[in-house]
Amino acid sequence: MTDPITCPECRGRRGVQLGELFLSCTFCGGLGQVGGENEPAERGAEPPPDGPPPAWQHNVWSDPWIAETLKCRFCLGSKKVTHIEAGTLVIVPCRCADD
Ligand SMILES: [Zn+2]
Ligand SMILES: [Zn+2]
Repeated sequence: MTDPITCPECRGRRGVQLGELFLSCTFCGGLGQVGGENEPAERGAEPPPDGPPPAWQHNVWSDPWIAETLKCRFCLGSKKVTHIEAGTLVIVPCRCADD
């Protein structure tokens, strides 16, 4: 066990802000730091089993037909994305939606 350090993935920002959508860092689990009891390296190379990878990282996007047909991989063209906020599912405009 080591002292906590700032997460190298999100640099302590705890995730990525996409417009109104905040995606928790999968490396540190949204804590902004790793180490101590939250040591990913001590759990092995596998990612934490807390769910499937984000939709836009899915293998399906390696298919050129899919990538060409679905213009926005975040909302699949609906211009809305679902988002968990404080335990509640909310629908927010996608980053591709017009202001
Ligand atoms: Zn992180
Ligand atoms: Zn979109």
